[in-house]
Amino acid sequence: MGNSILIIEDEVSIAELERDYLEINGFKVMIENSGLKGLNNALSNKYDLIILDLMLPEIDGFEICKKIRAGCDVPILMVSARKEDIDKIRGLGLGADDYITKPFNPNELVARVKAHISRYERLTNQEQKRQQGFSIRDLSFNTESRRVFVNNKEITLTLKEYELLLLLASNPERVFSKEQLFERIWGFDNYGDIATVTVHIGKIREKLEKESAHNQYIETVWGAGYRFKL
Ligand code: CA
Repeated sequence: MGNSILIIEDEVSIAELERDYLEINGFKVMIENSGLKGLNNALSNKYDLIILDLMLPEIDGFEICKKIRAGCDVPILMVSARKEDIDKIRGLGLGADDYITKPFNPNELVARVKAHISRYERLTNQEQKRQQGFSIRDLSFNTESRRVFVNNKEITLTLKEYELLLLLASNPERVFSKEQLFERIWGFDNYGDIATVTVHIGKIREKLEKESAHNQYIETVWGAGYRFKL
C-alpha cells in the first residue's frame, strides 16, 4: 500500500496537479480545499506527509502548521507563492520540515515528498529499535529495562558494565581506545582512571563467558583498545 498524503490547498488546479503527480508515483492522496477542514482532517487521520499551502481562507498555513505540530510529528511540506513567506516560516520555527515556492516543478515536489517520508520512516524505525532493544550474535539487549541476555539467559551487570557493553555492541567491529571508553562512560568529572576500563572489561568478559564459554565477544586490539567482534 502506498504512503498517504494530505494536500491542504485552496487552489483546486494546483491541488489536482500535485495529486496527479503523487498518484503516478504510487501515493494515496486526499485533498482539502479549506483550511479548517484540512486541519480537522490532519488531526483526525494518520498521514505520512502533509503538503500545506500557506495562504488559505479562514485559517492560514502558519496556524495550521502550529496546531498540527502540537499534536504530532508528521512531516509537513509548506508551499507558498512568495519567497518572503518562506523566509517568514523559517523565522517562526513552526516545525515545518521543508518549504517550496510556487510555481514549482512537480517532479521536484515528488522527490522532496519521497525524501521526507523515507527520512521520517528511518527515524521512526531507529526510535522503535532503541526502545525495544536489539540482538547481536547471541546477546540481546532490552534497552528500556537495561537488561542483557546471553542465549536468552539474563546476566547481571552493574550500570557501568552495562553501558560499556552496550556501547561496544552497538558499534560492532569498531575499535574504541580505553581513553574513549572512559570518557564516554565515566565522563571527565570522575575519580578513577583508564585502568577502570580494563577492570570493567574483565568483569564483563567473565560474566559473558560464564554463559557462553567458547565465545569471545570483546576483543583486545593491542595498542588500540577494544572492539565487539561480529
Ligand atoms: Ca492559497
